[in-house]
Amino acid sequence: MDKKGEYNISKAIQVQQKLCRERNFPHFAPEDGRCWCCNKNIYEEIGWKYDSASHRHVQVPLDSDQVGFTTGITVEKAGEEFITGCPHCSRTYCD
Ligand SMILES: [Zn+2]
Repeated sequence: MDKKGEYNISKAIQVQQKLCRERNFPHFAPEDGRCWCCNKNIYEEIGWKYDSASHRHVQVPLDSDQVGFTTGITVEKAGEEFITGCPHCSRTYCD
């Protein structure tokens, strides 16, 4: 498991906007963080498990013991990396 950072939607939006401004990079991430493709917030932690019956990843509550892995962008990551796609559904925002 990755080292966990802090999840905070409004803070993450702020630091991502700041990063883009500072480096003169276009801001690809949705303004409010909500992915228009999967409807989840990219700055929110989502828990997943692999469902072997359907061969798909299905969302499970974060406190469930079924969580295999989680996706989402932490404040730390939003302050260091340009966000060009959704961590949950892998949709790219570049095109
Ligand atoms: Zn998405």
